[in-house]
Amino acid sequence: MLTCSILSVSAIKHALPNWLKQIFADKNNGSLAFDHIELSFSVMALTRHTMTTLSDVTIIGGGIIGLLTARECLLAGLSVTVMDKGQMGQESSWAGGGILLPLYPWRQAEAISQLVMHSLTLYPALIEELNIASGIDPECVVSGMLITKNPDIEAALAWCTEHAIANSTPPESLIASLTTAALNPLWLPEIRQVRNPRLLQAVQADLKLKGVSFITDCELIDLQVQQRRVQSIFTTTGRYAVKTVILTTGAWTGGLWQRLFPVQTFSPPIIHPIKGQMLLFDTKPKMLLPIVLDEAHYLIPRLDGKILVGSTVERCDFNKNTDTETKAQLTDFAQQLFPALRQYPIINHWAGLRPGTEQGIPYIALHPELENLSINAGHFRNGLAMAPASAQLLVDLLLKRAPKIALDPYQFNCPH
Ligand SMILES: Cc1cc2nc3c(=O)[nH]c(=O)nc-3n(C[C@H](O)[C@H](O)[C@H](O)COP(=O)(O)OP(=O)(O)OC[C@H]3O[C@@H](n4cnc5c(N)ncnc54)[C@H](O)[C@@H]3O)c2cc1C
Repeated sequence: MLTCSILSVSAIKHALPNWLKQIFADKNNGSLAFDHIELSFSVMALTRHTMTTLSDVTIIGGGIIGLLTARECLLAGLSVTVMDKGQMGQESSWAGGGILLPLYPWRQAEAISQLVMHSLTLYPALIEELNIASGIDPECVVSGMLITKNPDIEAALAWCTEHAIANSTPPESLIASLTTAALNPLWLPEIRQVRNPRLLQAVQADLKLKGVSFITDCELIDLQVQQRRVQSIFTTTGRYAVKTVILTTGAWTGGLWQRLFPVQTFSPPIIHPIKGQMLLFDTKPKMLLPIVLDEAHYLIPRLDGKILVGSTVERCDFNKNTDTETKAQLTDFAQQLFPALRQYPIINHWAGLRPGTEQGIPYIALHPELENLSINAGHFRNGLAMAPASAQLLVDLLLKRAPKIALDPYQFNCPH
């Protein structure tokens, strides 16, 4: 009976296999009105015989943060299982733009710059290794970034100097094809972008070759905790015994945490979904060379001539719908800034859910009370730019290795 005293009834309902749900439904004229005692015996009988033990590390959430955290664990000699409620790499990490620099980084917390700068040093080797192992090129290219309007140019230049980011006023040729009232325009010639859907494919292929187990369509519902440890997890496909659990559940982390820990003894992670809509134009290669940031919106040219237009920042309730009004606004922005786009079709319009924290600082921390649970989530607008360093830092924490950057800003008791 121990199991049922710890789990919520709704968690158990989800964890039951469909055949058992059907038995309960049939007994209750189609409704899943459970009798607690009856349920307890059934679940005990079920789980006692079917529980399997997962790898050294179980990672919940297969976005870029989960996948690179898995890779970092593997490289440290640990076996890893990654579990996702859907398919791997299909949520925010797929939807994002892949600019490897925050927008106006000098207006953001230094804790973000720290992770981004360290990631920029890790990316070249990571991309080369992924390319060789998987045969998939994530197209991590130096396209440079042109920022057209900088009312706070002194702060921008000071930030570039502090972080050794090359900069200059843009050559006339870069601005010539654009229509904008530039104000102190800034050219950052060494900024990179990565083609995030390809990066996700390359990491998955690499992890498969390295022996990671993937479990898809499997949602974490609840934890069984005993003696300050997570002993097992309850999911929509069954119960698994676990050794170490890492939550990399992106925009879902805030709500999930509240369900897992309804009684909090310390500040829980505050992470909300923030929707971003993007458009895709199909143009010719090299029509536009740099990433262009013009006030709140940007254009990202891919190598094959596709140009992404982003993005919106909308508080939402896990709703990934797109709307025609936003499509019109993004289209207007793009065609006014870069009139050549009027000749080319829009071939896609999508939305993703960013894991929004108030300042954009992620939680990279061990659970203060449970020995084997940690979190790597809340990267908001810069998850791709921060992912390699964020994964490394979490594994530094787990294995008690000396961290490359200061840990404090990412802990539960700091503002995020
Ligand atoms: C429009 C847009 C543009 C962006 N542009 C950029 C950019 O240019 N540069 C940049 O660096 N960042 C950008 N971002 C932000 C970046 O995409 C995110 O910060 C990053 O993808 C977060 O990664 P993640 O792995 O935490 O989340 P996700 O990729 O969302 O992955 C979380 C995973 O957890 C799974 N999951 C959730 N709950 C459960 C559960 N209970 N059980 C099992 N699995 C679960 C989900 O299914 C999902 O696959 C952009 C985002 C958007 C939406």
